[in-house]
Amino acid sequence: MTSIKPQTPVAPEAMEIVFFYACPKCKRHVPRVNPIEATVAVCDSCGATFPIVPVDEYDLQYIRIMLGNGKAAADPDFL
Ligand SMILES: [Zn+2]
Repeated sequence: MTSIKPQTPVAPEAMEIVFFYACPKCKRHVPRVNPIEATVAVCDSCGATFPIVPVDEYDLQYIRIMLGNGKAAADPDFL
């Protein structure tokens, strides 16, 4: 008989930020991770392509710093 060893939960080591853009054709929310450049998105539902408005890279850095790159979000005693 084998015993099942409980696993220790793993905390996040890093984080990325997902933004959602509404497809102009079908309105599906198309996810983009850290969209800091003006590029063209492709809707995974209807296949439409459309340009997106990028987000500010410094705003993303601010959020990462505030959350300890994800660690503070999972640990109430982080600091
Ligand atoms: Zn679409």
